[in-house]
Amino acid sequence: MKISLMKKLSLAFLLTAIVAIIAAGLISNYMIDKKFNSYLISQQKSKEDKIAAMINSLYKEKGGFISIDEEEIVRYASAEKLYIQIKDNSDKVLLTANNLPTTKSAMMHSMMGGMMKRYSENNGEYTEDKYLLKKNNKKLGIITFGYYNSSYFNSSAQSFIMTLNHSFMISFLVALAFSLIISIFFSKQISAPLIKITQTSNKMRDGELECRAQVNSKTKEISDLATSINYLADTLQKQELLRKRMTSDIAHELRTPLTNLKSHIEALLDKVWEPTDEVLEGFHEEIERLIKLVNGLNNMAKLEQAKVILNKSKFNISQELEKIINSFEPLYKNVGLNIYSKIAPNIEISLDKDKFNQVMYNLLSNALKYSKENGEVLVTLKSLEANIIIEVKDNGIGISKKDLPFIFERFYRTDESRDKNTGGSGIGLTIVKNIVEAHKGTITVSSSLGEGSTFVITFKN
Ligand code: ADP
Repeated sequence: MKISLMKKLSLAFLLTAIVAIIAAGLISNYMIDKKFNSYLISQQKSKEDKIAAMINSLYKEKGGFISIDEEEIVRYASAEKLYIQIKDNSDKVLLTANNLPTTKSAMMHSMMGGMMKRYSENNGEYTEDKYLLKKNNKKLGIITFGYYNSSYFNSSAQSFIMTLNHSFMISFLVALAFSLIISIFFSKQISAPLIKITQTSNKMRDGELECRAQVNSKTKEISDLATSINYLADTLQKQELLRKRMTSDIAHELRTPLTNLKSHIEALLDKVWEPTDEVLEGFHEEIERLIKLVNGLNNMAKLEQAKVILNKSKFNISQELEKIINSFEPLYKNVGLNIYSKIAPNIEISLDKDKFNQVMYNLLSNALKYSKENGEVLVTLKSLEANIIIEVKDNGIGISKKDLPFIFERFYRTDESRDKNTGGSGIGLTIVKNIVEAHKGTITVSSSLGEGSTFVITFKN
C-alpha cells in the first residue's frame, strides 16, 4: 500500500512531537520527583527536630514529664500523625503517643493514584527515626518517631502534585494540537508543489508539451525539480518541433528527385522524350542526389550511435589551414568568389587531422553554396591565451534570427537555402558540431539575413 507524502510527513512530524513531549514530560517528572521527595523528607526531619527539641525542653532531669507536658506531646503526635515513644537510659518507656493513621488510611494513601505512589519510595511503609533525649549534652534516653512514609503527603503537597500533573497533561494536549496543525501545514507546503509537478509531467506524458509546472516553492530542491521538469518540457517541445520538421524535410528532399524521375520516365514512356545521353545524364544526377541523401542519413545514424572516435595527433594547424584554403581557391574562382585568409603562423595543436579537414570542408562548402554574387569569404586563425580560434566569415545570404538556433540540428535547412537549390541535405553543420564537441571545442554562429554569416570554432590548446 502506498501512503501519500503528506500523510507520511504528517505522521512523522506528529510522532516526533509526541515522543519529544513524552520524553520531556517523563524527564521533568523524574527530576521533580527526586527534588520533591528530598524536600518532603527534609520537611519531615525538621518537623521531628522541632518536636525532639520541644520534648528535650519539657523533660525534667529527675522526674520525667509532668502530665501537662505529656498531654502537649500527645497533641503534637496527633497533629503530625506521628508515633512517639520516649525511653530513658534503662530502657524504661516514659511516654508513648500513637497517632499513626490506621492501616486502612495508610492503604488509602498508597492507593491515591499512580502519581502519588511515585512521591514516596516506600509508600505507606512504616519508618522510624531515633533522636537522643538529652540535657546539657548528657544522654538521658531515646526518642523514637514512627510514621508511614505516605504520611508526609499532607494535603497541600498532594494538591501541588495533582496541579503539576494536570499542567503536564494540559501542555501535552496543547503541544499535540499545535504539532498536528504545524505538521499538516508543513507537509502540505512540501507535497502541494510536488503534486503540481506530477500533474504537469502526467500532462507531458499525454502529449501536452506546452504545459509547465507553475510552482512557487521556497524549498530549493522542489524549485530545482520544477525548473528541471520545465526545462525537460522545453527540450521535448523543441525536439518534437524538430522531429516534425525533419520528417517533412526528408519527405521534401526525397520527393523532388523522385518526382523528377517519375515525370521524366513518363515522358520517355509516352515517347515525348527520346532516351538520349542528356536525358539519361539527368536521371543519373537525380539518382546521385538520392544516394547522397541516403548516405547522409546513414552517416548521421553512425554519428549518433557511437561517440566520434578520434585519432588525434599534433600538427601545424596554420599550414594545414593554408593547404585547405588553397584547395578551395579554384572552386571559389570558378564561380567568381574570393577567399582570403589571415592565418597566425606556426600554431600547433593536437586534433584528429582528417576530422578537422572535414569540418573546414563543410564550412567552406557552405560559405561557397550560400554566397551572393561577387561574394567574399575570410578565414582567420588566431591564438588567444590557451584558445585557438578559427573564424569563417562570409557575406552571403545569411541566416534569419528564427532559423539560427536550429541550423546545427540534423536535416535543418533554411527556406533561403532551399530556394537556392544547392542540393544540400542539412547534415553538414550537424557533423561539424559533433566533431568540434568531440574535441571538447565549441562552435558558434552569428548571422544576419542578407548580410552574411560568421562561424567561430574555439579549441583549447
Ligand atoms: P546543407 O547541406 O543544407 O548545407 P548544413 O547542415 O551544412 O546543410 O547547413 C544547414 C543549413 O544552414 C543550410 O541548409 C543553410 O540553410 C544554413 N547555412 C549553413 N551555412 C550557411 C552559410 N554560410 N550562410 C547561410 N546559410 C548557411
